[in-house]
Amino acid sequence: MTWSSTEVRLAQRPDGYPDESTWSIERTEVPDPGPGELVVKVQHISLDPAMRGWLNDVRSYIPPVGLGEVMRAFAAGEVVASNNDDFAVGDVVSGVFGVREYALCDGQGVTRLDLDVAPATTWLGALGMPGMTAWFGLTEVGRLKDGETVLVSAAAGAVGSTVLQIAKARGCRVVGVAGGPEKVAWLKEIGADATIDYKQGGVLKQLRSAAPEGVDVYFDNVGGEVLDAALANLRRGARVVICGAIAGYNEQKLPEGPRRYMSLLVFRASMTGFVVMDYEDRYPEAVSAMSKMIADGTLTPRETVLEGGVEAFPEALLGLFRGVNTGKLLLKL
Ligand code: NDP
Repeated sequence: MTWSSTEVRLAQRPDGYPDESTWSIERTEVPDPGPGELVVKVQHISLDPAMRGWLNDVRSYIPPVGLGEVMRAFAAGEVVASNNDDFAVGDVVSGVFGVREYALCDGQGVTRLDLDVAPATTWLGALGMPGMTAWFGLTEVGRLKDGETVLVSAAAGAVGSTVLQIAKARGCRVVGVAGGPEKVAWLKEIGADATIDYKQGGVLKQLRSAAPEGVDVYFDNVGGEVLDAALANLRRGARVVICGAIAGYNEQKLPEGPRRYMSLLVFRASMTGFVVMDYEDRYPEAVSAMSKMIADGTLTPRETVLEGGVEAFPEALLGLFRGVNTGKLLLKL
C-alpha cells in the first residue's frame, strides 16, 4: 500500500516575513515501511517561532532547512503501518515529522504518547518541547527560588503560560506580559499577580508599578523593548533567561539593543541563553513533575488549534507573529 501525502517544502529563503514565494506545496507517494520503519498519519503540526530561524542560512544550534526540503516541524499523529517492534498500528506518537500528511520514519526520536495523561495536543505543548523549555529555562537556567519575583514575556503563549504557572506553583510573585486585553485577562485566570499589556505602550512604567522592588528572574521570550524594561528593573542577583526574541525574528536588520545591559553590572545580575535540546536526557523528570501538576490542577495547559490542513501552514505560521494564539499554536490536519 502507498499513501498519497501533501507536503510543504521550502522553495525560497524569505527576507522578512515568509510569504507565498517561500513555500511550495506538493504531493508525493509514501511507500510501505521497510525493515524497522513506520508510517505516521500526521494529525497535529506544531507551529514554533523557531521555524522562522530554521529558514535562515546561518550557523545556528541546528542546520537550516535546505531548499527543496520538507519544512521541519514537530508533530503528532497515528501509526498506520509499522515494521518497527517499538510501535504498533494505532499508537499515537510525536516526533519531528515535518509539514506533511504522512511521514515515513525509522522510529528515531519518535515517542509513544500516553493519552491517559493528556491529549496529543498537550503532548506538543505543556508536556512537549515548549513545556520542557519552560521547565528547564526557569528551574535550571533561571535557578528559580521559591517566593521570588518572576517576569515573563509572551506570557500567554506556549512557553510563557507554562513558565507563569510553574513559578506560581513555587510560591512566586509573577508578572506576565502579553498583547491585548483578552490575553492579559487570561493571565490573571492562570494566576498572574500583575500583568502588562505591552501594546498599550509605557512598558517600563507599567513594570515599575507591577514590580516596584524589581524582578529576580526575567524569562525573556521576545527581546526588544520588554528586555530593555526588564533590565532597567532588576533586583540584586537577578537572572535574565534568554529563551527567545520573537520581536526580531522577521526583522531584516539586527536590533539596536539591549541598551540597558549595564544593569547586569549594577545589580550583579546575569543573562544566559539556552537551547532546550541540551536537556533532552532529563525530559522524563520534567514530564513527570508537570503531569502531576496537570493532574492536581496547578497547571492548566491550553492550545489554540487552527484548521485547514497542510495547505494552511504558511498562514498559520504567520499567526504566531500576529499573536493569534493563546497557549500552544497547532495546525490540525
Ligand atoms: P508562543 O506560543 O509564545 O507564540 C508566540 C507569541 O509571541 C505570540 O502569541 C505573541 O503573543 C508573541 N509575539 C509575537 N510577535 C511579538 C512581538 N513583536 N513582540 C512581542 N511579542 C510578540 O511561542 P512559543 O511559546 O513556542 O515560544 C516563545 C519563545 O520561546 C519564542 O521566542 C521561541 O523562539 C522561544 N523558544 C526557545 C526555545 C529554546 O530552546 N531556547 C525552545 C522553544 C521556544 P502576544 O499576542 O502577546 O504578542
